[in-house]
Amino acid sequence: MKLATKYIHAGTEPDPSTGAIMTPIFQTSTYVQEAPGVNKGYEYARSQNPTRKALEDAYAQIENGKFGLAFGSGVAATDAVIKLLQPGDEVIAANDMYGGTYRLFTKVFAKFGIRFTYVDTTDAANVSKAITAQTKLIWIETPTNPLMNITDIAAIAAIAKKAGVLLCVDNTFASPYLQNPLDLGADIVMHSATKYLGGHSDVIQGCLIMNDESLREQLYFIQKSCGAVPGPMDCFLVLRGIKTLHVRMQRHCENGEKIARFLRNHPKVGKVYWCGFEDHPGYTVASKQMRGFGGMMSFTLKDDSVETARKVLSSTKVFALAESLGGVESLINHPASMTHASIPREERIKNGLTDSLIRLSVGIEDADDLIEDLQQAIG
Ligand SMILES: *Cc1c(COP(=O)(O)O)cnc(C)c1O
Repeated sequence: MKLATKYIHAGTEPDPSTGAIMTPIFQTSTYVQEAPGVNKGYEYARSQNPTRKALEDAYAQIENGKFGLAFGSGVAATDAVIKLLQPGDEVIAANDMYGGTYRLFTKVFAKFGIRFTYVDTTDAANVSKAITAQTKLIWIETPTNPLMNITDIAAIAAIAKKAGVLLCVDNTFASPYLQNPLDLGADIVMHSATKYLGGHSDVIQGCLIMNDESLREQLYFIQKSCGAVPGPMDCFLVLRGIKTLHVRMQRHCENGEKIARFLRNHPKVGKVYWCGFEDHPGYTVASKQMRGFGGMMSFTLKDDSVETARKVLSSTKVFALAESLGGVESLINHPASMTHASIPREERIKNGLTDSLIRLSVGIEDADDLIEDLQQAIG
């Protein structure tokens, strides 16, 4: 089945009792049983909910996986993966990833005795070198947030297989429309569905997708035991979002390319980080593992000061100054003081995340309006 057809029909069957074409919002906490232990597969809504079930099936289908699990947020999904581990286990993680993931690893899980090693995963050899007898999991993100670095998923998957460790890929930035890590050998795909999957900036949610049944059982056990489940209304919103993922992503890609080229030709702009440029260090790998380059990018100004960056950030009229990404509306963000403020400054700068870096989530408005807006803001 082609992507467009799959996204529109994924997970949703007409409701058997009414024929409703859209899965109803089953706003219930419990289900009446015919006799003790005799039920229709639903007992208590932390464990199962039909709206969530439809969405979890959709998650599996759009990532070419067998099983999907929905969580109350992206970080709740990440949290569930780390709970597969035990004290003394080691995780190799990318040194350039979502700030909230870094915070969860360093501030929450490190104190439970799980050890994290951060390496530059754009060079797969760094991952091989970091593996020890205690390594249980490799955690990567590609493209990364906000520098758009690219990691070769298939290369890391081969290393993980050989060492017998799990590979989890945070696929939030690409979305399943542009990249499918399970097809490249990953064991688990994680998304912040808050972003492109929901797509309308109206819901917080996360998910995990996998092929291995025993991994699914362990993660389902964590989902119901720890309880970070999304409500049925939120599941409905993401189900609806997925139906237009392909059309939205096509426009995000088109607009992204126009804006990236505009910025690159602008005399006041310094570096532009967008993985669709042929001279981007990850271009070859990105072209191999992605179907397009998306609408996420970052740039610096030639006048590399916080003040100038702040002026641009406060002057846009169509781009809204806000955290998050992946919605229909364009957003502008200052990683150093917003999304990545939880990463120590020294650590940030070392990884190229300077004080004047500006991140854009290019939405699906008319590209001419977006360019005009950036033009007047940059001056
Ligand atoms: C937003 C985001 C997360 C966290 O997801 P939430 O839904 O905000 O909890 C994780 N990874 C990436 C790449 C993100 O952009």
